[in-house]
Amino acid sequence: MNAFVNEAKAKTAGEETLDPADWEQLRVLARRITDDAVDYTRDIRERPLWRDMPPEVRARFRSPLPREGRPLAEVYDDLVTHMLPYPMGNIHPRFWMWYMGASNFTGALGDFLAAILGSNLGGGDHAAAEIDQQVVAWMKEIMGYPATASGTLVSGGSMANLIGLTVARNRMSGIDMRDLGIGALKAPLRFYSSDQVHSCHRIALETMGLGNRALCRVPSDAACRMDIPALRKFIARDRAAGLQPACVIATAGTVNTGAIDDLEAIADFCADEGLWLHVDGCIGALLAIAPEGKALVRGIARADSIALDPHKWLHAPFEVGCALVRDADAHFGAFTVTPEYLENAPRGIASGAWLHDFGLQTSRGFRALKVWMALEEQGAAKFGRLIDQDLAHARHLSERITATPDLRLCFPTTINIVCFRYDPGGLSEPELKRLNTEIMVRMQEAGVAAVSDTTVQGRHCLRAALNNHRTTRADLDILIDEVARQGAALIGDAVSGSH
Ligand SMILES: *Cc1c(COP(=O)(O)O)cnc(C)c1O
Repeated sequence: MNAFVNEAKAKTAGEETLDPADWEQLRVLARRITDDAVDYTRDIRERPLWRDMPPEVRARFRSPLPREGRPLAEVYDDLVTHMLPYPMGNIHPRFWMWYMGASNFTGALGDFLAAILGSNLGGGDHAAAEIDQQVVAWMKEIMGYPATASGTLVSGGSMANLIGLTVARNRMSGIDMRDLGIGALKAPLRFYSSDQVHSCHRIALETMGLGNRALCRVPSDAACRMDIPALRKFIARDRAAGLQPACVIATAGTVNTGAIDDLEAIADFCADEGLWLHVDGCIGALLAIAPEGKALVRGIARADSIALDPHKWLHAPFEVGCALVRDADAHFGAFTVTPEYLENAPRGIASGAWLHDFGLQTSRGFRALKVWMALEEQGAAKFGRLIDQDLAHARHLSERITATPDLRLCFPTTINIVCFRYDPGGLSEPELKRLNTEIMVRMQEAGVAAVSDTTVQGRHCLRAALNNHRTTRADLDILIDEVARQGAALIGDAVSGSH
C-alpha cells in the first residue's frame, strides 16, 4: 500500500500544491491559533458583547481580490486586529437577541476536524457518512420517532421546514408532483399555520410554487397559540370553496413569544381530517430532552414531519438544522434521483447510501460531527438540564420584571422567551416604541447586554430569548438594572429637555 509513497512525492518541475513548504512552521502557527481560541472563549465575559466597527476596519474588508499571497501568519494577524474584536456577540453570556445558540468549543473543534477530513456528505461509504446518519438517528430518538422514520441534516431550520413542507406538498397533491408540477393540480393546495408562524414558511411556499396565499394564517389566541376552532372553520370554508387543504403547520415555540400550539389537539384534528401535520420545532422540539420541559411538547411525535435546529438549543456552531419525516418512502420519494454519474458501485467508496437523496444539496458538509462530538462529550442529559436552566432563567427574569416599577411583562412566558417593556405610564404606543428601541440600542452600543424587539398583536416589546448556556441569574439582574436605568435616564432627559 505504501509502495508508491516516496515515488509519488517526487515533484515534476512546475508542479504546485496548497500544502505548506514547511510543516513545522505551520504547526507553530496552528498551535498559536488554537491557544488564542481557548483564551478568546474563556475570556468572553471580559470583553464588550459588541462594538461598532471603526471606518478603518470596514475599509479593510473592502479591498480588491488579492492577486498574490502572503504568509499565513500575516493573514491571521490581520484577523486578530480586524475581525476578532468585532463579533456579533452571540457567544457572550448577555446576548439574548432573536433566537440563537451560544456555540461551544467542542463544536468548533468538530467543525475544524470535519474540514480537516474534508469529506463530502453527499454520500458514499465512509465513517463520516455513518456519523451523519447516527446523528439523524439520535434526533429521531429524541423526538420519539420510530427507527423506520427518515431524516437529514441541513443548513438550518428554514431549510428543514422547506424539506418537510415539500414532502407534504408532494404526498398530499394527489398527482405525480415531481413529474407534472403544480400546473397539474386539480385544486389549489392550502397550508395552515397560526399568524405567529416564522417567515421561512412563506418563503418555502413561494419557492414551492404555491405562493404566499396558499399559507392561511389562522388567528392566535391571547396566549399566542393557534385558535383551533378558527382552524376548523377555515378548513371547512376552503373545502366548500373547492380548495384542497393539505397540511397544518403547528409551531412548538413561536419566534415572537415562545408559545407552543396545542400539538395533541392539532394532531387529533389532522388525523380526523386526513391532513399532513408538520411541526416547526426549531425553537421548542428539543424540549423533549429536558426533564421539566418535555411535558410542553407532548404529542410532537405524532407529526408527519418535524423541523428542528441543533444550532439553537444544542448550541452547535452555525450551521446545522434537521428535517425528520415519519414516512421514509415519502421523504426519499420527494428528492431521490440517480444521474448516471452517481450510480452505486457494488463495493468501494460509491457503495454507500446517497445522502443527497434526502434534500436539495448534492455536496453536503460534515455538519454532523460538531453535534456528535458535543453529545458524546456532554451527554444528552446535560443538554436537557441546560434547557431546563433556560426555562428557570426565563421565570426568574419574568418575576424580576413584574416586581420592578416601570417594567411590564407584555405576554405570558411559556418557555425561554420573555417579552417586556419599559413603561412608566402615560406614554402613547409610538412613544413607548421609540423609548424602548432607544433603550435596546444603547445597551448594545455600550456592549452590556443584547435583547431584540418585536411587535406582537399590535404591541411593541423588548424580547429576551434566553437560549444561552453561559447566562447566569446575575446576568439577568444586570439586564433589569440596565433597562430601568436607561429608561429612567431617557425619561429624565425628555423631561429636562422640555423645559
Ligand atoms: C429560527 C427559526 C426558524 C428558522 O431557522 P434557521 O435555523 O434560522 O434557518 C424557523 N422557525 C422558527 C420557529 C425559528 O425559531
